Amino acid sequence: MAELTSSHPHRRRRGLLIVLSSPSGAGKSTISRMLLEADPHITMSVSATTRPKRPGEVEGRDYHFVDETEFQRMIQEGEFAEWAPVFDHHYGSPQAPIKAALREGRDVIFDIDWQGTQQLHAAMGEDLVRVFILPPSMKELERRLHERGTDSDEVIASRMQRAAAEISHWAEYDYVLINEDMDGCLEEVRSILAAERLKRWRQAGLVSFVRDLVAGSTA
Ligand code: GDP
Ligand code: ADP
Repeated sequence: MAELTSSHPHRRRRGLLIVLSSPSGAGKSTISRMLLEADPHITMSVSATTRPKRPGEVEGRDYHFVDETEFQRMIQEGEFAEWAPVFDHHYGSPQAPIKAALREGRDVIFDIDWQGTQQLHAAMGEDLVRVFILPPSMKELERRLHERGTDSDEVIASRMQRAAAEISHWAEYDYVLINEDMDGCLEEVRSILAAERLKRWRQAGLVSFVRDLVAGSTA
């Protein structure tokens, strides 16, 4: 029987774009990091931001840290697939690495907010898979922000203030997860990726595979 194994040449597929959005502190950066570590087919979209670098963050890995002048230049020159103001700063996803990854059949993960998700959805259509991550409770969200230890009490208070507004966009997403237990949530994101990769229109090699299959010429 003809089998479509992962090493099969017909398994070639177009990459997909997966967005993880959540209120700050719900766990999307941690989940993205774990996905990247375990899956060589995924690359992270590294955003540009005007916000200051946190202790432990690395230029080019966590963000491209730029000043407002440079960010405005990037907007003018059309270098962003999407950009938006978040909190008191600007954030944007550079365009070029996304196009390259899609062409090469790699998947790209985005840690961006609802504004950026809407823009990417309008621009990229079915290439985009939208996942919203909810915290189990607002109390736990605040606890995680304190536990992370990267922001002052004032910054945490402003993130908590914005959390309800971010959560209000949950219904604009394809999948909604509750990040109670980290391993369980990671497993759910992996299942979403596995199913989305099998969508018919992403499997570019299927047309010729089925043609050969029916003709009896598959190995
Ligand atoms: P964190 O959410 O506590 O990790 O704080 P950050 O300052 O790293 O991110 C703040 C918000 O900006 C989060 O909701 C991110 O998802 C969002 N964000 C990060 N990069 C981008 C981007 O390129 N575009 C958009 N639209 N949002 C972004
Ligand atoms: P975000 O990127 O959404 O702002 P982070 O990934 O930085 O959130 O997570 C915020 C904090 O919560 C981190 O200290 C992280 O280790 C912790 N965390 C994430 N998910 C869980 C979970 N399921 N249970 C307990 N702590 C979590």
